[in-house]
Amino acid sequence: MQATFKVSRYDPEAGGKPTLQPYTLELPEDATVLDGLFKIREELDGSLAFRASCNRGFCGECTLRISRGGRLACMTRVATARTKDGEVTVEPIRYVRVLKDLVCDMDRSLWQKIKAVEPWLQPAARPPEREYIVADAQLRPVRNAMKCYHCGLCDEGCSVIPFDNTFLGPAALTKAYRFLADPRDGARAHRLRGLGEPRGMWDCVHCYEADEHCPRGIDPTHRILDLREMAIGMGIKSGATNPQVARHYESFAASVKKSGWLDEGRLALETWGVRRIFGLLPVAWRALQRGKLPIPYRHPKRAGAERIGRIFEKVERRKP
Ligand code: SF4
Repeated sequence: MQATFKVSRYDPEAGGKPTLQPYTLELPEDATVLDGLFKIREELDGSLAFRASCNRGFCGECTLRISRGGRLACMTRVATARTKDGEVTVEPIRYVRVLKDLVCDMDRSLWQKIKAVEPWLQPAARPPEREYIVADAQLRPVRNAMKCYHCGLCDEGCSVIPFDNTFLGPAALTKAYRFLADPRDGARAHRLRGLGEPRGMWDCVHCYEADEHCPRGIDPTHRILDLREMAIGMGIKSGATNPQVARHYESFAASVKKSGWLDEGRLALETWGVRRIFGLLPVAWRALQRGKLPIPYRHPKRAGAERIGRIFEKVERRKP
């Protein structure tokens, strides 16, 4: 099989911008993109820089953007990665500083974020007197999260990171979940308060892209939702410097309780307050131009709103 690879080449020390360099290769029918990169480096251009290790989809080292999508090069067949033009484009993952060609600086974009969630077990102050035996069922979610090999594909697909690269991101939050789900850990409240600060778990917009991208089936978005549920269950409404989160879901619930559906105008006002709402005027203006902000703004009750309100009251009565 003949294949044309267009590979991103970039050397920050030499200056300039990344360019896509074409290479035409003869490859076996079942060749992977990583096979193609090795062939380029061994036979055509020894200066090409990329990372790879196990070549079996176990290590997550060869995460790249292949034909415009985040994938592992060792698990992607050339035959399935070709674009309509019959080419395979190979680029580094996005939003990460490129060190050379396809090699990225993962320190700030991944490892520092993982370090920030304190990725070590913090046992309860009073250690158990005997060996701490955990039931298999209790450890199952922990084991699932432990399958993460930090490939960064979930961060690559994340919808928030392009706008705010300081967001912890699904990979680091999955690591946080691994310890929060562990019954031996004694720092749950401390961890959840930390994750509740700005750029933590509440910044996820649950687009589910991370779940689509994870090659290990960990479903990082669901793990972030689990973290939020744990926090709400423990009465930790938001981080110390993030009070708008608590206001957001209290307003959300109050508007559904009252009218049977979400009052978006009230939600924005009660979440951000009058002063900060002025900062959202450009967004409101764009929404108005696209016909998404009805003027005059009205929020009538839905039919059956009283019944919805009674459901809320029932749940509230059950609260401890
Ligand atoms: S959660 Fe999945 S996609 Fe994200 S870093 Fe871990 S293995 Fe990769």
